Amino acid sequence: MSELQAVRGMHDVLPEELPYWRRLEEVFYVVSSRFGYEEIRTPIVEYAQLYVRSVGEASDIVHKEMYTFADRSGDQLALRPELTAGVVRALVQHGLLQRRSVWRLWYYGPAFRYERPQKGRYRQFHQYGAECFGSPYPESDVDVLLLAITILQQLGITGYEVQLNTLGSTEVRQRYRQALRDYFSSVRLHLSPDSQQRLERNPLRILDSKHPDDQPWIEQAPVVWDFLDAESRSHFEYVHAAIAEVGGTVVLNPRLVRGLDYYTHTVFEFVSPRLGAQNAFGGGGRYDKLVESFGGPSLPAVGFAFGVERLLLLMERPPQEAMVQIYVATTGAVQAAQQVVRLLRGAGYSAVADLQRRSLKTQLRDADRLGATLAVIVGDSEWQRGSVLLRHLRESAQWECALPDLLPHVRQALSR
Ligand code: AMP
Repeated sequence: MSELQAVRGMHDVLPEELPYWRRLEEVFYVVSSRFGYEEIRTPIVEYAQLYVRSVGEASDIVHKEMYTFADRSGDQLALRPELTAGVVRALVQHGLLQRRSVWRLWYYGPAFRYERPQKGRYRQFHQYGAECFGSPYPESDVDVLLLAITILQQLGITGYEVQLNTLGSTEVRQRYRQALRDYFSSVRLHLSPDSQQRLERNPLRILDSKHPDDQPWIEQAPVVWDFLDAESRSHFEYVHAAIAEVGGTVVLNPRLVRGLDYYTHTVFEFVSPRLGAQNAFGGGGRYDKLVESFGGPSLPAVGFAFGVERLLLLMERPPQEAMVQIYVATTGAVQAAQQVVRLLRGAGYSAVADLQRRSLKTQLRDADRLGATLAVIVGDSEWQRGSVLLRHLRESAQWECALPDLLPHVRQALSR
């Protein structure tokens, strides 16, 4: 450990990466708005108990990965490991559910999990997600899935699949959980130590295990589809048909359960072979009991989250725009150059001037490096005459221009 390094698993976003982050953020905003989803922002820190209540004590996230700490008054707080719990808390706390029967919300921001860092897995990462509250019907599952798929289209992300499953209604889930517990108990001694532990806490999670010892037993485990009632089955079939119809590659995966305890009915995951071991870049599902468990009304809901760093690994990366349009160079009339740069910025152009009093040649090299299209050269003698030199850096054309004509010349030169 060194205090001069970023904390393990936490990353700086350097300027050269930021254009891609901004592109993502713009797509999140534009597509969510097009679908009628409104943004909500909640604090990064919540009471730790919130996640025990929602994500579940038995989940790996709460059990092993959450950053918890006592503040100075002794309250147990947590850095949020995901954003849904905070969103639901805010809805209930502010009585929003009394105002409207359906809420379409999206969020974006950092989340924290104490996991072993590797490619695509960090201790501080970012999530974009959307939640639709107020409908028990599969149309709303499809609405959030289509929102997710549209975002991927806009980012040029292809070649992924949507893995889809259902955990059925609460009753179905309970019966299935019991069946899994019975089955895995009968082969307990063959399971990995982790899975033996999960057997008590959360037998569904054994299906997520990657441990080689568990695989033959997982393959023979009971399948949730055999436990579905008619309503759970038709809900699932509706969602499957609707996503297949929009041309998504849907793969039905009866062993997909997802790590959080609060899902019922639909669960899904976005998976890309281009990501390596951490191949899931998003996931979600329906959580009809969560709002109620927060002391709110009985309110069905469905939502998903993307891992933003994983989207960044997958998205198209078109060449970046130049940092500045205009470079103001000078052979010594520093104050005059400062005036010109202010004039240009005031007119809405991005412009910089040399700050190191370097030679003209070095300044022009700098202009090239920054990708500027135009240089305005403020020379003493031209300035005395009330003019400056304009140089088009790509066309290597240079001409003198009277100060009052500068802005029209700049506009014309930049539009070439
Ligand atoms: P989850 O709800 O755990 O499935 O998380 C949703 C998405 O967040 C995942 O599909 C990942 O893309 C992303 N994610 C979760 N944990 C991490 C992590 N430790 N580092 C980076 N991304 C993560």
